[in-house]
Amino acid sequence: MGFLSVLGMAQRLVAERVSPGDAVVDATCGGGVDTRFLAGLVGPHGIVYGFDVQPEALARTRGRLSPLAAEGRLPGLRLVLGSHSLMAEHVDRALHGRISAVMFNLGFLPGGETDKTVISRPETTLPALDASLALLRPGGVLTAVLYPGHPGGRQEAEAVEAWAGALPQSLGQAMLYRMAQKPDAPYLVAAEKKAAPVPAE
Ligand code: SAH
Repeated sequence: MGFLSVLGMAQRLVAERVSPGDAVVDATCGGGVDTRFLAGLVGPHGIVYGFDVQPEALARTRGRLSPLAAEGRLPGLRLVLGSHSLMAEHVDRALHGRISAVMFNLGFLPGGETDKTVISRPETTLPALDASLALLRPGGVLTAVLYPGHPGGRQEAEAVEAWAGALPQSLGQAMLYRMAQKPDAPYLVAAEKKAAPVPAE
């Protein structure tokens, strides 16, 4: 049957940690696939923040969510045209430290008409990862799908990998999920924020 795809693994890690009513973040809306996935997990009582720097991506995301809207199953949706590196400014202060999951799917917006030079970059991706970790609840997860195959993609992937490798274990646990025979294929970095210690009896 083969191993789970990289995107499938990202979704599994998130689904295991998100419950109805939770607040979550899609850091790179792109075509809206992860936003739609997150909306389904948190349901109508949850909140989904979505970020993208391109209006086209937010429009596609709204389109992908319209069936949910038609069924009245849309969560509280906050789509932000802006960089994920500023996510802490957009997420309600009351939700800082309470976000269950943040998903990144890096690279460029796929599709015929899109500008492939608009790519995510380490200068903004790394601050966004730091911001995500601060926003997560203990036990919450961030996932980042990396694309080493396009120009600039490998440098970004390596920067994210280095970020994960340098994450102090006191803050969280980081993992890599990668097909060992396919060095150019997309791969996953995930980090789980350290759960709060169980109070002594
Ligand atoms: N590579 C994936 C899709 C990634 S879409 C695939 O092939 O399926 C990545 C999205 O990130 C794009 O829509 C792009 O506009 C967005 N993006 C780039 N820089 C960003 C930033 N600083 N903040 C938020 N979104 C960003």
